[in-house]
Amino acid sequence: MSLFQTIVLPKELSDAGYQLTIYRGDLEHQGAPGNKWHKLKYNVEKAQSLKAKYVATFGGPYSNHLHALGNICSEYGMQSIAVVRGELQPNLTPTLIDFVKQGGLLWPSRRSDYRLGLDSLIRKEIDLCMDGCYWVPEGGSNQLGMKGCLDWSKRIYEQGGNAFPYWAMSAGTGTTAAGFFENQSIANLCVVPAIKGGEGLRQIIMANENNTKVDDSRLIMKTDYHCGGYAKLPNTLREFLEEFSLLNPKIQLDPVYTAKVLFGIVSEMLNRQWPTEKTLLIHTGGIQGWRGYNE
Ligand SMILES: *Cc1c(COP(=O)(O)O)cnc(C)c1O
Repeated sequence: MSLFQTIVLPKELSDAGYQLTIYRGDLEHQGAPGNKWHKLKYNVEKAQSLKAKYVATFGGPYSNHLHALGNICSEYGMQSIAVVRGELQPNLTPTLIDFVKQGGLLWPSRRSDYRLGLDSLIRKEIDLCMDGCYWVPEGGSNQLGMKGCLDWSKRIYEQGGNAFPYWAMSAGTGTTAAGFFENQSIANLCVVPAIKGGEGLRQIIMANENNTKVDDSRLIMKTDYHCGGYAKLPNTLREFLEEFSLLNPKIQLDPVYTAKVLFGIVSEMLNRQWPTEKTLLIHTGGIQGWRGYNE
């Protein structure tokens, strides 16, 4: 099956000349689909080369990042550690159960301390009792994460992405988008933040040391489609997804990220604000995150 799939649009939009293709990053890797594998790959390899015993990171109880780390570490034969946001509930979430099944260790945290990330007290405590920890920031947001995403974008480009003058993708921390933007073969990169206040992501993407000299008109930010904020799933978005799945029963979107990109694209197509050139939507994975919603 090709990972490039045509999205069936409402007739009104296809009649108007719109064409949308999705790159199914969600089907790439069984255990760790989507962007997280790419962000973690070089990090886990670095940890191995440093002979670290553990790969430690931060994440919420439904985090795609923790889910992917558990899988990758077990693939690489490394021990993973997750500092989980907040207390650990007696009933672990399905995401954390998967993480433990892959051999990962869980540490609870206090939210106020968790927010400090790599500067938190809990990190110091873990470093004291677990000798040889390699730390990855929450979401895999570091230079090695970007490098993995740059590689990913090149592979997508070579496999067929070169036919698309517009690429569209989601952003949380902007690490994935920063890696893609570094790939100058991509003519236009349209980024739809999944968070409120996503305007600041433009600076973050441009601050990637390899992007500072790049023509920034290739980067188009669409900050109005967060649908109320991170992980919010209002009825308008739910209904939009239901209609989408009637037209595209084989394409499942994640609610936190890719759904909002598609919502943004279709909204702008309806208003005739979206360019009619061929667009490639990058599915960044995250299907396991549906388990955080009561469907
Ligand atoms: C983490 C995540 C993103 C956001 O990636 P960033 O690099 O933080 O911008 C997008 N989509 C999915 C499915 C994710 O899990």
